[in-house]
Amino acid sequence: MSGYKTESLFGPEEAEQQGGYSHIIRVAFESGVDAEFDYLISDELWPVEVGQRVEVPFGRSNKIEVGFCVGIGSEAKKHKRSFKLKKVRKLVDKQPLLDSQLMELGRWISSYYVCPLGRVLGAMVPAAVKKGAGVKKKRLVYLNTEARGQMAEIRSKKQKQIVEYLQNEGAFDSKSAVELDRLLAAVGCTNAPVKKLAEKLILKMTVKEVLKSLPSIPEGLAVESKKVVLNKDQREVLEHINGEIENDKFGVTVLYGVTDSGKTEVYIRAVEKVLEEGKGAIVLLPEIALTAQTVQRFSNRFEKIAVLHSALTGAQRNVGWQKIKKGEADVVIGARSAVFAPLDNVGLIVVDEEHEPSYKQDTLPRYHGRDVAIKRAHLARAHCILGSATPSLETLSNCRSKKHFNMVRLTKRVMDYSEPQMRLVDMKAESKAKRQVTLISAPLEKKLREVLKRGEQAILFLNRRGYSNFVYCASCQHTLQCRNCDVTLTFHKSGKYEKDSMQTVMGRHMHSGFAVCHYCLSKTLVPRKCPVCGKGMVMIGLGSQRLEEELKGKFAEFKIARVDSDSMQKDSYYRLLKDFSDGRIDILAGTQILAKGLHFPNVTLVGIISADTCLYFPDFRSNERTFQLIRQVAGRAGRSEKKGVVFVQSFLSNQPAIQFAVAGDFEGFIKEELKHRKSCNLPPYWRLAAITMRDMNFEKLKEACAAMRERIDGIVDVDGLKVIVRGPVPAVISRIQRFHRMQIIVQAPDATTIGRLFSRLRAMGDIKPVVKVAIDIDPVNLL
Ligand code: ADP
Ligand code: ZN
Repeated sequence: MSGYKTESLFGPEEAEQQGGYSHIIRVAFESGVDAEFDYLISDELWPVEVGQRVEVPFGRSNKIEVGFCVGIGSEAKKHKRSFKLKKVRKLVDKQPLLDSQLMELGRWISSYYVCPLGRVLGAMVPAAVKKGAGVKKKRLVYLNTEARGQMAEIRSKKQKQIVEYLQNEGAFDSKSAVELDRLLAAVGCTNAPVKKLAEKLILKMTVKEVLKSLPSIPEGLAVESKKVVLNKDQREVLEHINGEIENDKFGVTVLYGVTDSGKTEVYIRAVEKVLEEGKGAIVLLPEIALTAQTVQRFSNRFEKIAVLHSALTGAQRNVGWQKIKKGEADVVIGARSAVFAPLDNVGLIVVDEEHEPSYKQDTLPRYHGRDVAIKRAHLARAHCILGSATPSLETLSNCRSKKHFNMVRLTKRVMDYSEPQMRLVDMKAESKAKRQVTLISAPLEKKLREVLKRGEQAILFLNRRGYSNFVYCASCQHTLQCRNCDVTLTFHKSGKYEKDSMQTVMGRHMHSGFAVCHYCLSKTLVPRKCPVCGKGMVMIGLGSQRLEEELKGKFAEFKIARVDSDSMQKDSYYRLLKDFSDGRIDILAGTQILAKGLHFPNVTLVGIISADTCLYFPDFRSNERTFQLIRQVAGRAGRSEKKGVVFVQSFLSNQPAIQFAVAGDFEGFIKEELKHRKSCNLPPYWRLAAITMRDMNFEKLKEACAAMRERIDGIVDVDGLKVIVRGPVPAVISRIQRFHRMQIIVQAPDATTIGRLFSRLRAMGDIKPVVKVAIDIDPVNLL
């Protein structure tokens, strides 16, 4: 962290006026210095607008850097030190990338999330836009009308043909010019005769920039595009939302509705309403590539739609962004960062699955997409819809305490299909009976057979990648650890099978795969024999690869496919979903990405292989995540007239979060969970901030952490702030990529107190010795 300086733009004293430099601008840099700097700009380059980027010399070495113009002064002569200022070299953008509302949003994020302004602004514009991805230069040619006389003298046949072609096309100036490629193809010649004509000045060339990409709407999934008639519940909810939209005032509607209750249909109607009012809408989805069906549903219903998410190519993103900027799109659908879409006149922002932790960005700026959406709606005087089947505790508490929050509910599934039946399997008892750990319990196996025999399909869900959790020596308890991080390694089978095990100086290694660290992604070979005691190593735990193997053993006659981020390229993912939806696959097994937004009517069995995986994370949101996960997965079953059943396997089957989730008792869960949160001063009652500091040198890190704690205590003392400060303590994962990690956690009763503490801390500059410091306001986890 470094000091945050903003000197006033214009000193009162007169200074020498410099010839040709009558303006001063203020610049913030993407490179992340936590300060803004003034520059002189020449009258030639003037005018420049806030939100436009400029190229300037920066620092002692005058390195050329690109920064955003964030403030404008009129007359340089009024600036007291204008003669000392450096000069803007050139303008980078023809137009501002960010309008005044987005600039204001950027300033709010910078202040609230304690992040340098330049960094924030940089993150608000996709890299593809800044780079101009997909912009191609096209060469065009036309006839020089002043050289008419020379045309008659042309001897060469090809040259003649070229001139005739251009005459026929009417290409007589840069506006009517013809693409060079088209000309060459039509005449059937090389560049050479064109060049000759150009040398003789008979023909002129010009360049045009065009922006092109492949379409960004996914294809291949069947989605209904018919317009349904809303049911009574949906109509009531929509009426409320429409009323709010007509109001033209800022407000938030929390749409709490079970999976399949028709929330998406309501979003679509609300967007239609906003378009009627002549405004635009932004729809945010978590990890959008995973909800291709939803994207398609929206694109079937809206014509001027732009898609923005990270799985697109640079060119696709740039095309989408420019389309919005030019006003050619009035509906934007995208992931977290689409909240910054350059849409003017925003009337509605929808945040679907608002409880999803993936809305929080884990790198600078560490913003929460949902909370930024609310802020943007506020600035735009727009309406905001937060939808979820399991709203976050924060959102529920806002509904109770904030005037502009309203909750509406959809309690029934649209088609009145019965809720799936839930079955909890106690894996402890199960493994005692069987005397071995298998991933699929006997009751689940039996049910799976029944379902498959009827020609129905199943989804099995395991929130764990790889083959096994860890590689371990049963005799001395030695486990394989990452060299760089404080975590055990996960075994991944590789596709290639070599006959013999690999031999290195360390001895023989398993040849069927690698141990991989999911934090630093380093790979190592796995020794056959324990490096400590020499006995054989075994693999224990659960992983999606292992699940696949077990399934293939038990259900050899059926088609089984695994989906997880290890095995999937984007297009093969879509192809797989299509195969599944067409019935060419019987069992789909995999990680979390199966839990979201998919709709398969023939799926009547969903199994959660282990509901406990979240509970092992020592984080205060584990219970909430476990509950959400089970409910979300349950929503995948029985989405048609066929009755669905959900198997939940657990070693901790009497945990309240699991019990409540299996019973479908959200209110009961909330009540229980809130008790804990309240007694520990945790969100939604209090606010949190986590300061994570890291360095390779542990002693140095400890010193820096102690200095940070001292500063915090000092501020708390002087300002008389009501806060609880914990730490420094080693973080849950105490080492990542060879960096030791320690945390200081700040708890305060409200956001204002956190804000005051951190703005004071920010102004104090770097802690010495300098270590890496990450400040996370409203963290979604404390790992
Ligand atoms: P949610 O977003 O709450 O999961 P959706 O809006 O996706 O629910 O609706 C679930 C399914 O029901 C979709 O296939 C949708 O097209 C359909 N649907 C929604 N509303 C209606 C309705 N009023 N009549 C018939 N089908 C509907
Ligand atoms: Zn590692």
